[in-house]
This record gives sequence, structure tokens and C-alpha cells, in this order.
Amino acid sequence: MVDLEPHRNADELVRRLTDALGPRGVSTDAHELEPLITDWRGRWKGATPVLVKPASTAEAAAAVSICSAMGFPMTPQGGNSGLVNGGVPYGEVLISMRRMDKVREVDPLNDSMILEAGVILTRAQETAAAHGRFFPLSLGAEGVATIGGLVSTNAGGVAVLRYGMMRDLVLGIEAVLPDGRIWNGLRGLRKDNTGYDLKHLFIGGEGTLGVVTAASLKLFPAPALRQTAWAVVGSCEDAVACLALAKAYTGGAVTGFELIPAFGLDLVMKHIPGVRDPLPSSAPWRVLMEISLARPEGARDVIEGCLGAAAEAGLISDAVIAESEAQARMLWKIRENIAVAERAHGKALKHDVSVPVSRLPEFMSRAEGLVRRLAPGADIIAFGHVGDGNMHYNVTPPPGADQDAFLEGEGLIVSRAVHDLVCDLNGSISAEHGIGRLKRDELAARKSPVEMDMMRAIKAALDPRGLMNPGRVL
Ligand SMILES: Cc1cc2nc3c(=O)[nH]c(=O)nc-3n(C[C@H](O)[C@H](O)[C@H](O)COP(=O)(O)OP(=O)(O)OC[C@H]3O[C@@H](n4cnc5c(N)ncnc54)[C@H](O)[C@@H]3O)c2cc1C
Repeated sequence: MVDLEPHRNADELVRRLTDALGPRGVSTDAHELEPLITDWRGRWKGATPVLVKPASTAEAAAAVSICSAMGFPMTPQGGNSGLVNGGVPYGEVLISMRRMDKVREVDPLNDSMILEAGVILTRAQETAAAHGRFFPLSLGAEGVATIGGLVSTNAGGVAVLRYGMMRDLVLGIEAVLPDGRIWNGLRGLRKDNTGYDLKHLFIGGEGTLGVVTAASLKLFPAPALRQTAWAVVGSCEDAVACLALAKAYTGGAVTGFELIPAFGLDLVMKHIPGVRDPLPSSAPWRVLMEISLARPEGARDVIEGCLGAAAEAGLISDAVIAESEAQARMLWKIRENIAVAERAHGKALKHDVSVPVSRLPEFMSRAEGLVRRLAPGADIIAFGHVGDGNMHYNVTPPPGADQDAFLEGEGLIVSRAVHDLVCDLNGSISAEHGIGRLKRDELAARKSPVEMDMMRAIKAALDPRGLMNPGRVL
């Protein structure tokens, strides 16, 4: 690993970078740097000798070549919405990809598009829609998260159940390697069995193997009709059973199935303007379900029949179907703002975990027992993607407690216990947010030595001097 102490030749670095990228491509302005060296939750603050803002792949390659030649470590960054402290620099040169925001190509007949790394997810969705296609990735940070960040964290979100994670949506990658060489792997092919599939190293690579500069992404037919429903549920068991019923009833047309705790709903209503409870109830859980159908005919019957069957089976006690796009958006607004409301409520211990869907109820009840025992009075905000077995099992300190002391003290014991439980259930300690700096030690402690050796061998082969996002993941 390289030395992260401030380098004496930083002035020379800035001079060379400015020569290569021009003044718009380089900054040391403290006001501009401030939001980029602080993470989304305001929990971590880093530092950087210089911010680099390439506007093209050639500029990104030039910047990386210069940093590499001078031995400066680098941290790539997109929207800085990552939640595992992976994109905030700690002495590294910060490479912000936001200026690389071109739509290079849309090929509707091939159902693909090529976007640069800095394109924001909402724009990717709009670009697909403008061509009569659908790009299914959707998540709470979609107004800021970039294609490069989404690729590099293998982002998930609310439509994984039907369309998969980013890994399933990427056809090809263009990247700058740690030594400054450009790899153009932007193939728009569904079939390509020509040796190792290298793009998968960069998907979920969290910027440790290079800078992703563009991606070729899969497009889908736009669903003719989406129906969104909100249901009141008495337990996690009922939610999981309702999911199975909905998948069978709709012939696999469920595109989203999210679990929302009553406490999370209360927080959203408290902190987000204009949100009200769609179906007031004292029940502990709500389910937000979306089904997508190729034809509009009979769609209403499908969702009504599905909810009716769930009610008959005693799985839901009440339900409402969105009557318009605006109503559907309002329901999704609740789900997407839980993390935002949680942030307003307090600093949280975040557990982005997954277990087999069938074991989710067991996880929820055992995890609650652990938190109640280890951190009495703490609030549990557990929500997320039931359909993927992925829960955001977050815990905020007891009211009145010193939040930082909690996170660094008993919170660590809670996290270890939650992760032990996840492993006991054959789950994952990072379902979709990645490892970053936050879970690096956990990863090393929980992966098998063989798996860690293979990962380190890949890192050493592509980045022998450890210059690219050091201290993240490995
Ligand atoms: C409110 C909220 C809701 C969220 N919901 C979800 C969710 O449902 N599902 C989910 O998966 N995530 C979710 N996230 C997490 C986050 O949005 C994703 O991790 C997203 O992919 C990060 O994109 P970004 O552009 O902000 O990346 P950044 O935060 O800038 O970077 C993330 C990581 O990728 C690396 N990186 C960024 N760009 C590049 C690049 N071009 N080349 C190489 N490495 C790069 C960084 O070094 C860092 O390690 C949520 C976050 C928030 C704040």
C-alpha cells in the first residue's frame, strides 16, 4: 500500500494536472471541495490535495497517468451518495466523474444505450423513456447517483426482483486502469464467450481496480401498465407469504415488493413535507407492491384479485390501489424517503444485509431480540426489499444518548451481533451498498481465506502499487 501522508510534490501534481486538463478540470477551492470530501450522511469527512474533473475518457486517462507516474493514490467519485465511506478521499486525489455526462448512443433495436460515468440515474431513465424503452434501475438516491457509482457499487434498488442488480443490467464497460491505460469493453452484446468476463471485476469493484468512464446498459420494453398497491400487514411472516402469493397470482409480474415499518412511516410523515398515511392503522408493517404488465387490459383485475386473495388468506388486513401515476408516486415517495427521514431522526447504525427470503422472518425476530438486549431503548428502523431478502436493518441510538459515542461503542457490539446472525442464516453483510472503508474489516473477518486470496490476487494484478482507492474493500 502507498503512503497516504500529504505529499511534498502536490504543487507539481496540480501544475501537471492543470496543464493536461485545463483550469476547468482541476480545483483546490475549499468551497467546491467541502461537499465532496464529506459523505452523504455527514458522518465522515476526508481530505484531498486536489480535485480532478475530467470531461472525457482521454482526460480521465491523462489524470490517472499523471497521478500514477507521481505515485499519488486516487479515489473516483460520482454522486457521493454511497453509504459505506468508499468515495470520500482520505488524502487521495479526488477524481470526480460528474463532468463526463454524455449520452453516447441509444440503440433501441439492440435494446441498449451507452452512457458516460457521470450521467445521473434519473437522466438514464429519462433517456430510455425518450426512446420508448425502459431502464429499470431505481433507488432513493436516483437524483444524484451516477452510472459510474452505480456500476462500481453494483447497485440494487427497488426493481431487482424482476430485473436484477446493476450487474444484470450492464453489457459492457469502458474504464481507465490504474496505470492510465484505457480499456474499451463497451460491447452491446448479450452473448460473448471470449474468455474471462472482465467487466464483472469493475462492477462492484468500488473504484479499487480503475475508473469506470462509460457503460453499455440493457434496455427493456416499457411496461404498458404499472399498478401500485399499499397494504397493511401484521408481521414479516405475512409479508413474505404475501410476496409468494403475489408472484404466483400475477405470473411473476411483481416488480417491487417493499416492507415498511410503521415507525419508518411515522418518521417520513414527521420529516418529509406533504406525506400522509395512506391507510392509518395500528399494525406494525406496510407493504408496497408494484406489478408491471405488458398489456393494460385486465390489469386492474389482476391486482385486485391478488390483494383479494391475500386478504382471504389473512395475510393483509387492508389495502389501497393507486388510482393514478401521481398517487403511485406518492406511495413510492414514502418508501424512498425512509432513509432521508431516518437521517433527520438521528445517526444510524446501518446494516444492509440479505438472507434467503424464506429466512427473513427468523432474521427479523432474532435481530430485534439482539438489539433490545444489547441496546435497550434504541430505535429499530428495518425496511427494504423483501423480494430480494434484503433488509436495511438500521438502529438509531436511544433518545438523548450521545450519538457518536453510541455508534463507536455499544453500536459496534450490536453490529457484530447482527452480522453474526446474518452469517448464521447464510446471508450477506452487504447486500447492495458494498464494502467501502466501513465494512472492510468485517469482510476480511467473514470471507474465507481462499476468497480473500483470490480478491487480493486480482487487485495486485491490476493495481500492483495499490494506488486506486486504497483501503476500500481489501
Ligand atoms: C437515500 C439513498 C438511498 C439509497 N438507496 C439505495 C438502494 O436502494 N440500492 C442501492 O444499491 N444503493 C442505494 N444507495 C446507495 C448509493 O446510492 C449507491 O451506492 C450508488 O450506486 C452510489 O452512486 P454514486 O454515483 O453516488 O457513487 P459514489 O458515492 O460517488 O461512489 C460509490 C463508490 O463507487 C466508486 N465510484 C464512483 N464512481 C466511480 C467511477 N466512475 N469509477 C470507479 N469507481 C467509482 C467510489 O470510489 C465509491 O467507492 C442509496 C443511497 C442513498 C443516499
